[in-house]
Amino acid sequence: MSPADLQLAVGTDGVPTVAGTLYIDGSWRRGSSSRPVLNPADATEISQVDEASAEEAGLAVAAARAAFDDGRWSSVPAAERSAVLGRVADLLQANRSRIARIETLDTGKTLRESEIDVDDVTAVFRYYAALALGEPGRLVDAGNPAVVSRVVHEPVGVCALIGPWNYPLLQMSWKIAPALAAGCTAVLKPSEVTPLTTVVLVGLLEDAGVPAGVVNLVLGAGAGVGAALVESEQVDLVSFTGGLSTGRTIMRSAADTVKKVALELGGKNPNIVFADAVLDAAVDTALTAVFLHAGQVCSAGTRLLLEEPIADEFVAELVRRAELIRIGPGLEPESEMPPLVSAEHLAKVEEYVRVGLAEGARLLTGGSRLSDDQKGYFYRPTVFTDCRRDMRIVQEETFGPIVTVERFSTEDEAVMLGNDTRYGLAGGVWTADRGRAQRVASRLRHGTVWINDFGPYLPQAEWGGFKLSGTGRELGPSGLAEYQEAKHMYENTEPAAQHWFSGGQPG
Ligand code: NDP
Repeated sequence: MSPADLQLAVGTDGVPTVAGTLYIDGSWRRGSSSRPVLNPADATEISQVDEASAEEAGLAVAAARAAFDDGRWSSVPAAERSAVLGRVADLLQANRSRIARIETLDTGKTLRESEIDVDDVTAVFRYYAALALGEPGRLVDAGNPAVVSRVVHEPVGVCALIGPWNYPLLQMSWKIAPALAAGCTAVLKPSEVTPLTTVVLVGLLEDAGVPAGVVNLVLGAGAGVGAALVESEQVDLVSFTGGLSTGRTIMRSAADTVKKVALELGGKNPNIVFADAVLDAAVDTALTAVFLHAGQVCSAGTRLLLEEPIADEFVAELVRRAELIRIGPGLEPESEMPPLVSAEHLAKVEEYVRVGLAEGARLLTGGSRLSDDQKGYFYRPTVFTDCRRDMRIVQEETFGPIVTVERFSTEDEAVMLGNDTRYGLAGGVWTADRGRAQRVASRLRHGTVWINDFGPYLPQAEWGGFKLSGTGRELGPSGLAEYQEAKHMYENTEPAAQHWFSGGQPG
């Protein structure tokens, strides 16, 4: 199997079987079972992929372990590792349209967003290609001229990289690019719902010259294959992006082998708008903050907090514009908001709307499927007002196109509501008063805070969560440090006996 074969398999809609989608020790191979991959826009089968058993996951781990232990990647000079990552970036760009199309067929997201994802992923590989060039370490003054003391950073070892279904290619790249830059080896496990672009990515890594065994790919259900990776004694680190409940399971399970754990577990992200904000931009961005990718974004601005004097006007305009959003299949150029990823996820979003209504929130628009006889998993942009901070739809991650509106009267109240969540991934503050913007931003307990914007992230800037949004950071220099161990090397250039013990004199 090569990426070219995958192109044939999903190059036209409604097509066939892709064979050999496991990649272990440098070989593409069949799994012990297979499963269909569905297009969320019409529920048709677009591909079949192989799935691994727990034993096959064990083979992948063993291959990664052997590749790490013999140093076939970590001993490659940093400049060469950097060049390989640079070639991955080139290959991503050369295959941009094909990869974007596959991502859209698999996740449902609009083609425009998939293309942006490929560009963002390319930038991430380029950034870590630069960081891979590394540093020789840090000399430390030991207070003794006879001592050379140095701190170096070494790869952490074998990494299990478990990705989600909302940004499959992007999230996996945030993990594998720094892991490779650091000199680690890895086993990749994408979501069973959206595995295709990870298969393509692994093909590109192979084509770019990553040696056999360094990157391995297993597909299959999280509870089987994913759990096998987390439990393995041969794995040194697990990096996971997904839901809170699965994150907790992984953290507990990783405790048995005291693995390093990096978790990105989503958020319930406040978008705070003061009355002096540029309202046209604030309304426009409030829409993209929550309805982009139908709200299936860990940093979606689902909790809108409006200052009293502008609340009515803001909500009316938000609803008017939300009702104009064109919902449709991601491959159709006029589509602005795609379907949800699966029938199960659609059911979950529908349940949250029922919960919101039962809790007394007022539905202003949406709250229904696009049509009763739709084949795909479309759901209308949904706006709830009259929301209270103790409501489940205000506190829980619905991961759908649902925005809740609350009001505030003072800066302190805005900050209190913005921090009134178990999560702490991201938040936004809109105001023309720069002093207030800085005050509010510094008091928000979230890993990213946008001022007069919502959504941008940079490969150079850390991404991750406070509180239940997770532990560790991706992107930026910290994103590389996750995959490194610090080692202190202390050399005594003039060894001499210290005779600490009185009986320790030469006999
Ligand atoms: P999960 O958290 O269950 O899945 C994420 C990844 O973890 C998938 O690859 C999954 O595999 C894998 N996985 C599941 N169980 C285990 C396990 N026991 N051990 C190891 N790996 C495992 O996401 P869901 O699809 O269930 O979504 C649930 C909710 O999580 C969503 O509704 C949303 O609220 C949130 N979410 C947050 C994301 C974020 O960006 N932070 C992304 C996606 C979802 P598989 O898919 O094959 O089961």
